[in-house]
Amino acid sequence: MAEDLKEIYEKKLNLDEIEVEGKLVFVRVDYNVPLDDNGSITDDTRIVGSLPTVRYLLEHKARIILASHLGRPKDKPTLALSLKPVAIRLGELLGQEIIFTNDCIGEEVAATKKKVQPGQIILLENLRFHSGETKNNEQFIAELAAGIDIFVNDAFGTSHRDQSSMTGIPRHVPVSVTGFLVKREIDHFLDLMSAPQKPFVAILGGAKVSDKIKIIQKLLERVDTILIGGGMAYTFLKALKYEVGNSLVEPERLDVAQGLMDEAKDLGIEFLLPVDNVVAKKTDDEVKTSIVRNENIPSSWMALDIGPETVRLYSDKIRKAKTVFWNGPMGVFEKEQFQGGTLAIAKAVAECKGKSVVGGGDSVAAINMFGLEKKITHLSTGGGASLEFIQGILLPGITVLSDRT
Ligand code: AMP
Repeated sequence: MAEDLKEIYEKKLNLDEIEVEGKLVFVRVDYNVPLDDNGSITDDTRIVGSLPTVRYLLEHKARIILASHLGRPKDKPTLALSLKPVAIRLGELLGQEIIFTNDCIGEEVAATKKKVQPGQIILLENLRFHSGETKNNEQFIAELAAGIDIFVNDAFGTSHRDQSSMTGIPRHVPVSVTGFLVKREIDHFLDLMSAPQKPFVAILGGAKVSDKIKIIQKLLERVDTILIGGGMAYTFLKALKYEVGNSLVEPERLDVAQGLMDEAKDLGIEFLLPVDNVVAKKTDDEVKTSIVRNENIPSSWMALDIGPETVRLYSDKIRKAKTVFWNGPMGVFEKEQFQGGTLAIAKAVAECKGKSVVGGGDSVAAINMFGLEKKITHLSTGGGASLEFIQGILLPGITVLSDRT
């Protein structure tokens, strides 16, 4: 991580450094929660994640407005993507009434903003019911920002997006700060990329190498060991001339994969690939599976998880690490028969006594699925945002915030 990047982030004002009493405070939260077919919230982690900031504002008698997007409503009101169920859940968690408005701009919102008292909370309807949110429409931004004294970014997962509620509003209000959730994310990732304790082990999985090339390159500047799993492992193995059957391979990335392995070797970094694999003809529930070493992957079969010997090898490295970063599952973990590798790695990360950071939707989902969330130092709320952070890309939703003077 370039030092200037660290300097830019560390200069940003945080919520606990400003006076909020009586002020109209607009908090951009991330309430993009999963819903089932009946519109019930299946996981309220994101709502719970916003509570430290919301409670702080309540205790300090701010007049609070919360806003978020939910899903992809295609620029028009969509009943199934209403934030109303979130207002109910938030009200239950806080034990107080949430004033819910049926739109995020317009007369009802303007009138409610005027009436809201210190210690009261308004939740606006889904920001993406208007095209203005993703299109940075100035009129839309001006309406959202009208009357607001303070803007708080507490939506880390959307901080890599240059959109109205993230980067537009801060340009119209006197002070913009990080909320507690965003501050925590920044601190953990800055620590990970600027002063990691050694040995630093990075575990990368998921489907494709192409999505992870830049991350691997950046991590090579910092880590001692890289452990590769998931579909992306087979492009590396293919580059090493293994016959990988019908496993996922990106033929146009073979050179890049070889280049990354060469770079790791030049830098003296351990770059490990699976040594054995769980293979099957397809991913069906009833399909027969087998465990084979790399040189024995049958021609019409696919490698869909890392095997037990790889698990042992990787777990040993992870347990001995002082810093671990994990992104991406080790196999097709959505299916029980290809879940073992991801589960074992999740357990090893949980057992690691050093600092553990897990980023990316699927690896976080795996940690939650296995009930290991309390054993991880930091579970990031932002998949895309955390990967961009590690690559050293400045997140526009954070850079736009006010600097400490
Ligand atoms: P990503 O979004 O890149 O983190 O990839 C996550 C997806 O990769 C998950 O849906 C997994 O099912 C899939 N995946 C993991 N391992 C494999 C594999 N060996 N073959 C095919 N897909 C995989």
